[in-house]
Amino acid sequence: MTDPRPLARPRAVILGGGFAGVAAARELRFSGADVLLIDRRNHHIFQPLLYQVATAVLAPADIAAPLRQLAEQQDNLSVMLGEVSAVDRQARTLTVAPAGIAPRTIPYDYLVVATGVQSSYFGHEEFAPHAPSLKTLADAEAIRARILSAYERAEQSDDMSERLRAMTFVLVGAGPTGVELAASMAQMARETLRRDFRRIDPAETRIFLVEAGPRALASFDESLARKSAARLEELGVQVRTGTRVDTIDANGVLAGGERIDAATVLWTAGVQASPLVAMLGTKTDRAGRACVAPGLHLPEDDRVFVVGDAASVETDGQRVPAVAQAAIQQGRHAGRAIANGINQSRMQPPPFRYNDRGNMAVVGRNSLCCNVVAGAPAAP
Ligand SMILES: Cc1cc2nc3c(=O)[nH]c(=O)nc-3n(C[C@H](O)[C@H](O)[C@H](O)COP(=O)(O)OP(=O)(O)OC[C@H]3O[C@@H](n4cnc5c(N)ncnc54)[C@H](O)[C@@H]3O)c2cc1C
Repeated sequence: MTDPRPLARPRAVILGGGFAGVAAARELRFSGADVLLIDRRNHHIFQPLLYQVATAVLAPADIAAPLRQLAEQQDNLSVMLGEVSAVDRQARTLTVAPAGIAPRTIPYDYLVVATGVQSSYFGHEEFAPHAPSLKTLADAEAIRARILSAYERAEQSDDMSERLRAMTFVLVGAGPTGVELAASMAQMARETLRRDFRRIDPAETRIFLVEAGPRALASFDESLARKSAARLEELGVQVRTGTRVDTIDANGVLAGGERIDAATVLWTAGVQASPLVAMLGTKTDRAGRACVAPGLHLPEDDRVFVVGDAASVETDGQRVPAVAQAAIQQGRHAGRAIANGINQSRMQPPPFRYNDRGNMAVVGRNSLCCNVVAGAPAAP
């Protein structure tokens, strides 16, 4: 079914209600366009705090906000809950399956693709059932259930080797997500759960953080990354760098030739762009991200923008990192470029410039690892 609405005003369609999509929608507030924001979920999530939901520090509702609230605040914005399954750039339409009804075709004048990334098992899809990743609220809740039920199993087991296996956790990938999650799990074991069991001592929990690269937090300054690794060791996390995971099964991992029996293995390693990017028929990088023009639109189509984690962007010869502040700045840039295009004040989108305000990883309570960029205003 084709959307019957006559297009009286230009329509900007935004795919994805994450940091980039929401920023683009807000920037289009006074643009004179009708704005349609489509997401497969009805809420925006603050992904940087997902690890706190996974370790029961925060409740899911603490990091989620309904997307419909945006429509309440912005008259020219509509929100649609649905899975986008195809984009036809020639016809300037997309196909979306709104919740529970037949797929429909929606025309657009301008398109912003902000569908982010998904986990990548680097071609080892067989790892996925044994090593869930952390990307959505449902993932965080499932991980939390796995962690807590591992302790319940340990408490009930009379078999010492089974108990040890239940209280052993392996995280694969020591980027910010792996580091923050490992530190939070260590604190959960040593503080939050300390008095909750009678037959086991949660402080005896073993947490391994396994990284194929030479160091944890590769995107951070080397001395900060070293301090973070030392802080993790203080918390009782065993950091294994330069260690590639060869196999993951229901009983644990084989990493760097060492077998680690663990009831819980979590995947905090690679990502790849949302499959929607491939449907745009544009050049992509190795992770499937769109190689956009300096203005963040496709090189072959200045009415289609790709922003946030789904885009591969360089400014001043540096790759823009896949972090929330970059996604927000890119979303705003695309929104502004579309508004300017509609108002004819500027035909060609200007190049995007990234204002890097630094990086931050939380290594347990009371410990931060920050890359502050000289001259940048303090991060909020
Ligand atoms: C666990 C974790 C921890 C992180 N920690 C930090 C941190 O500490 N600091 C930091 O700056 N960054 C952090 N990041 C990265 C940051 O969250 C991302 O850079 C940011 O979310 C990217 O925003 P985005 O809008 O591009 O994509 P996303 O926020 O991922 O949003 C994409 C949206 O698109 C929707 N979508 C995807 N495909 C479709 C489809 N086919 N149809 C409809 N909707 C679709 C999704 O539902 C989602 O809402 C973290 C990420 C994760 C996963």
